[in-house]
Amino acid sequence: MPLAGLNFTLRPASALASPFRVLVAFVLLSIPVTTLLYRTTSRLLALHASSTPQSRKATGKMATKKKIAIMTSGGDSPGMNGVVRACVRMAIHLGCDAYCIYEGYEGLVRGGDLIRKMEWQDVRGWLSEGGTLIGTARCMAFYERSGRLAAARNLVAQGIDAVIICGGDGSLTGADRFRAEWPSLLKELEENGEFTAAQLEPYRHLNIVGLVGSIDNDLSGTDATIGCYSALARICQCIDLIEATAYSHSRAFVVEVMGRHCGWLALMAGVATGADFIFIPERPRPDNWREEMCSVVEHHRKLGKRKTIVILAEGAIDRQGNRISPEMVKDLLADPKGLGLDTRITTLGHVQRGGTAVAYDRMLATLQGVEAVKAVLEATPDTPTWVITINENKIVRKPLMEAVQATKKVAQAIKRQDWDEAMALRDTEFSEQYKSFLMTTAVQINHEMLLPERERMRIGFINVGAPAGGMNAAVRAGVAYCLSRGHEPVAIYNGFAGFARHHGDAPLGAVRPFDWLEVDGWASKGGSEIGTNRELPSESGMEHIANLIETYKFDALFLVGGFEAFHAVCQLRKARDQYPSLCIPMTLLPATISNNVPGTEYSLGSDTCLNELVEYCDKIKQSASATRRRVFVVETQGGRSGYVATLGGLSVGASAVYTPEEGVTLDMLAADVRHLKEVFARDKGQSRAGRLILINERASKVYNARLIAEILREEAHGRFESREGIPGHMQQGGVPSPMDRCRAVRLAIRCIQHLEQYGRGVPNRVKNDPMSATVIGIKGASVVFSPVQKVEEEETDWPNRRPKSAFWVGMKDIVNILSARPKFVPQEPLLTGRKAKDVKRGIEDYD
Ligand code: ADP
Repeated sequence: MPLAGLNFTLRPASALASPFRVLVAFVLLSIPVTTLLYRTTSRLLALHASSTPQSRKATGKMATKKKIAIMTSGGDSPGMNGVVRACVRMAIHLGCDAYCIYEGYEGLVRGGDLIRKMEWQDVRGWLSEGGTLIGTARCMAFYERSGRLAAARNLVAQGIDAVIICGGDGSLTGADRFRAEWPSLLKELEENGEFTAAQLEPYRHLNIVGLVGSIDNDLSGTDATIGCYSALARICQCIDLIEATAYSHSRAFVVEVMGRHCGWLALMAGVATGADFIFIPERPRPDNWREEMCSVVEHHRKLGKRKTIVILAEGAIDRQGNRISPEMVKDLLADPKGLGLDTRITTLGHVQRGGTAVAYDRMLATLQGVEAVKAVLEATPDTPTWVITINENKIVRKPLMEAVQATKKVAQAIKRQDWDEAMALRDTEFSEQYKSFLMTTAVQINHEMLLPERERMRIGFINVGAPAGGMNAAVRAGVAYCLSRGHEPVAIYNGFAGFARHHGDAPLGAVRPFDWLEVDGWASKGGSEIGTNRELPSESGMEHIANLIETYKFDALFLVGGFEAFHAVCQLRKARDQYPSLCIPMTLLPATISNNVPGTEYSLGSDTCLNELVEYCDKIKQSASATRRRVFVVETQGGRSGYVATLGGLSVGASAVYTPEEGVTLDMLAADVRHLKEVFARDKGQSRAGRLILINERASKVYNARLIAEILREEAHGRFESREGIPGHMQQGGVPSPMDRCRAVRLAIRCIQHLEQYGRGVPNRVKNDPMSATVIGIKGASVVFSPVQKVEEEETDWPNRRPKSAFWVGMKDIVNILSARPKFVPQEPLLTGRKAKDVKRGIEDYD
């Protein structure tokens, strides 16, 4: 008999074991209120039901299954479904019961069937869904104590041990308030006679973990919120489209973007698209902003630019705190007495929230969801309430209260008009990118940054290896920085091969000065505008290259490229003993879709590649909906690094991932075939989308995507079909992702700053300083320069052209856990005896 407001169904007492029956009878007699009686009985029955031998087996020492509830709250953001999927599956994997609270705090306050138990299959395919499938709502009742009391009542009644809340700063503020009030709420429930002290005892400590789901990226303490890069991608797509029409008609566009009090979306969109001017709430322009904007736009037009893009955050204000509206900006640009530009306003609105999550948000949602479940299970009454954050490349737990308070301080600082404080309270990337934006937009206008003549350098820019998204953005930012400092940036076309063979001067030779008007348009361009080539200096002729560097009087070299570029820097450094002209500082900004450059955990282009791969996989998965029982074996690029396959697998929810690091064996394939058969046997048609296996192009010399697809087809005996899919060079991407573009800007500027420390003509200092030949990288939570000598000697797996240790290797386990792939132990005979039982049990437990 289902009861209103309750999630459980009463079972006949005869179904219970006898000691348990006694206990239930005792509890029933001791509690007077009928509703409470039902609630308590339900709780006990649920506890009993969940304490099966199977659950005890799965949880080890855990006596009863913990119940973990997940909810999404506040404004929706792409990636929230990925969070729910990861939390539900990880909770089940760790032997807990997973619940979803539908409709945000509204569901928590109303309880009943808005709090539902979730099974493994319920979240299948959720990674590729936009918005939040469990709903979200703004809930006025939760602002009141009575609403929070109802929420506490529902949690205790349902026996929920922990709650994971994914939302923006409002939702997390609410969570923090709820947590702070929890003891008094329990006291009230006890005093009201709704629960006894004994019943409340297990819930004395409210176990909450926060995840930041928001497109605004407005929470302090984390570099990115789940959804912000998807929103940024949508904004940049729209601006890229607008640019074409703006160029055609020589128009100006004022684009208003979301973000409430946070200017992150406007700032990053400005950096990624190379906009002419931006307005953000944290840093209102000086009082003469009207003149300033008009003079910047006028300067750009005089240089020959045919289009003008001004980006305005919805919270944009002037120094007096008055709102700056798109209409005000438009009127200025269109003023016939001033610039007189044909100007249009585009307010992007809710398209920014729409659509599916980009690869980064799916990865963040998955990794942070997994971390949140671990955090709730590890929590003790002494641990603070955590919020899961990311700093550069590292998932970090931080005290929720501190993050919420720091976020509030930004709004307070803006209100007080303390702009320095507002900027300082955002993360370091924010203020760094703001400076980058100002510098690139004010090239040849602002002369404040110019160095004295004697410190100005002639810097060679060269791309090496295959093209990767963000290479052009990096060159553009490097050139902009050089120009603002008075350095002379010089393009070396077509890598070392071009340098060696076509070394005449401009206009036809490989060594040419940059034309800023042309370079300024490269912010969003894919490929490599100055051309790239895989040839190493040793292949071009080291002596020849050394002579050319002398001939062209380079004071420094800035390389952008992949593993070949890294190899090139190593060769140039080693050849310094023989060729003094090579005693110049040189630094490499890694750019390759394979993300296999030692010295960094992230290479430009790898994010673009993952987005292309995810899009491809989503489409082919969808194409299976007519047939339903289909497995796609997708071959990914990545050289001998399994990064793309693994992160792609994490982002699309692959059933299996094959990497060169692990290899492919017949046993492995046999285990996966068996697993897939089981999966399809259990499939009740919840989702018609196909399943995916990702295999890196070099995972095996024999088992390639086609062969694996054929093996699967043969072994499936008609239970399911299989096809191979090879996206190939599509993975290099057309337009680079905003993340690749923004990081390109930030890292390129850092590279030139690093080079300029050396100044001109100090060969001895350069030769003896390991930091004069470096690779810039993101390592854990920091951006660092590493000396190539150390990296090549200690961190490089040369035969396999990849780093010796890769930070992402452990993520493969998460892909496996979340797809319930049975644990495979290599070097075992085919599925016989104990092993076969383990595999079978694995499927039963999780599928
Ligand atoms: P976001 O989480 O996206 O910032 P909101 O600010 O609208 O969105 O917050 C979402 C919900 O969180 C609100 O509707 C409300 O139920 C709850 N909430 C927000 N702030 C508080 C607060 N100070 N006290 C209690 N609940 C709050």
